[in-house]
Amino acid sequence: MIQINQLKLPIYATEEDVLQAVCKELRIKNKKDIKNIRVLKRSVDSRKKPDLYYVYHLAVDVLHEEIILKHAKNNICLYEEYEFSFPKVDIRNDKNIVIVGMGPAGLFAGLMLSRAGYKPLIIERGQKVEDRIRTVEDFFANGNLNPKSNVQFGEGGAGTFSDGKLNTMIKDKSGFISYVLKTFVEHGADEDILYVNKPHIGTDVLSRV
Ligand SMILES: Cc1cc2nc3c(=O)[nH]c(=O)nc-3n(C[C@H](O)[C@H](O)[C@H](O)COP(=O)(O)OP(=O)(O)OC[C@H]3O[C@@H](n4cnc5c(N)ncnc54)[C@H](O)[C@@H]3O)c2cc1C
Repeated sequence: MIQINQLKLPIYATEEDVLQAVCKELRIKNKKDIKNIRVLKRSVDSRKKPDLYYVYHLAVDVLHEEIILKHAKNNICLYEEYEFSFPKVDIRNDKNIVIVGMGPAGLFAGLMLSRAGYKPLIIERGQKVEDRIRTVEDFFANGNLNPKSNVQFGEGGAGTFSDGKLNTMIKDKSGFISYVLKTFVEHGADEDILYVNKPHIGTDVLSRV
């Protein structure tokens, strides 16, 4: 695959416009040579208002890669995919694992350990998220504080009632960040968090992810 960086197109550009721009950038005459285009990152360039642009970083699956790369401009290179793989662990280890707290750290530790064959037990002092929503609303409306289950404490942890701002970290070579983002998508987050520059899951969605 070939990576194209900093490809700027008007925000109203269609998929066909993107395809044509990619052909031009890679100096390809036959657009059928392009098998797939994946958006790695998309940011907004609003410096020349009222004209608005998207700046794309793309991974392009295309025929004759080597020839294209020989004559490519500086913003074009071979695409390298970084896949995260969980460190090998001894799953015969029969020690019980207890995780204290069901915030992002506890939830993800539980998920990763389960995928590695363990059966971790997660304990949480606060309520499950559905009940916690009611406790938090009661606090905001009437000032009643439940010390065990509130904005900070309960299933989902401290940021559950935020808009879930995320970091994409496109240059992360461990592949871990994209592994985390893909896990969010598998559990209900919108797919665009995988490539938009400043993604967020959304307040109305976060508690269900
Ligand atoms: C209002 C708000 C908005 C935020 N928005 C964002 C955002 O948009 N993006 C972002 O990246 N970060 C955001 N954050 C920060 C983010 O929420 C934290 O970095 C993150 O929650 C830390 O995760 P954690 O699992 O380490 O701890 P926590 O989320 O604090 O989780 C700890 C868990 O342990 C439980 N616990 C504590 N003591 C005990 C005990 N003795 N026994 C059992 N359970 C216990 C708590 O109830 C809690 O559920 C926000 C934070 C807040 C408060």
